[in-house]
Amino acid sequence: MCPMNSFSETIIDWFNQHKRDLPWRNTKNPYLIWLSEIILQQTRVEQGTSYYLKFSKTYPTVKHLAKADNEEVMKLWQGLGYYSRARNLHITAQVITQLHKGKFPVKYADILALKGIGEYTAAAIASFAFDKPHAVVDGNVFRVLARVYGIETPIDSSQGKKEFNALANQLLDKKNPALHNQAIMEFGAMHCKPVSPNCNLCPLNSICFASQKELVSELPVKSKTIKVRNRYFNYIVLNHKGTTAINKRTAKDIWTNLYDFPLIETNKEFREEEILLSKEWKKFIGRNKYSVKSISKVYKHILSHQRIYARFLEIDCITSLEKIIPSSAIIIKQKDIHQYAVPRLIEIYLET
Ligand code: SF4
Repeated sequence: MCPMNSFSETIIDWFNQHKRDLPWRNTKNPYLIWLSEIILQQTRVEQGTSYYLKFSKTYPTVKHLAKADNEEVMKLWQGLGYYSRARNLHITAQVITQLHKGKFPVKYADILALKGIGEYTAAAIASFAFDKPHAVVDGNVFRVLARVYGIETPIDSSQGKKEFNALANQLLDKKNPALHNQAIMEFGAMHCKPVSPNCNLCPLNSICFASQKELVSELPVKSKTIKVRNRYFNYIVLNHKGTTAINKRTAKDIWTNLYDFPLIETNKEFREEEILLSKEWKKFIGRNKYSVKSISKVYKHILSHQRIYARFLEIDCITSLEKIIPSSAIIIKQKDIHQYAVPRLIEIYLET
């Protein structure tokens, strides 16, 4: 096994030579660090950077974010996905403002108690902002540790989480937790990549279990495969004298509080004409007069646990939309739709 101090020294040395200059790396401000960590969860750095810059400019302090209108926060978040993160960000900013007088808590346990902040994010904030000795364990860290130390315990098991967490904390340079944590995360993201890492030019090569045993592509191990559910959305894009109807999604489902069009969800993919013959469509349109302007191609949209197949039916209505739309929908001018926070799928449809 690699001696603990030499592991930390090696990755810090690598980090000092190869680190990317990212805007949130030059701050000790816990609010900005939190913002960057929430934005970057499951988002690529290239995509996340523009959102970080937008958010930190629009809401330079936690109090600014707390005071913001929720619809405005969601609109700024649009396109990033995982909208519950934006909602929690806003709620937590309000809690920090009210309960902690706008000051980010310093203790790990107090940070962890905040909504939307898990162990990884709490460790990142505590170490980056306050130099507290808590090791971060994200996907990059799991991968590096599994490979260097040859750990085969599945990373998505509770035993695995315990084991990796204990090792990460054992390895942590307690005098330089911020530097150590950033170094191991960056090393995983940039060098020990999931596929085809450059082991020949790796500073850990001589002590890396996976490289020596030719097990790089086998580690880390995951036990569960995610079940993906198929869903079939038939969106009704109504048109009456330049107005349309949009629907605020309030149910416990994907995209809560975002807007989309009135929707008929079916349990299989309907052909173009099938949807207009279905009982769901007849119930929706009732006796109102309409003509079909167009029926779109099928848009395939992939989320972490769902695969959405969406079709958009553009319908010209003779009667005004109040008579047709469900009570959850509102009527807006078509040209104003860009003022509303919509899921990426709707954004893609509107762009084409
Ligand atoms: S030798 Fe290869 S697998 Fe091992 S840490 Fe380096 S890049 Fe990762």
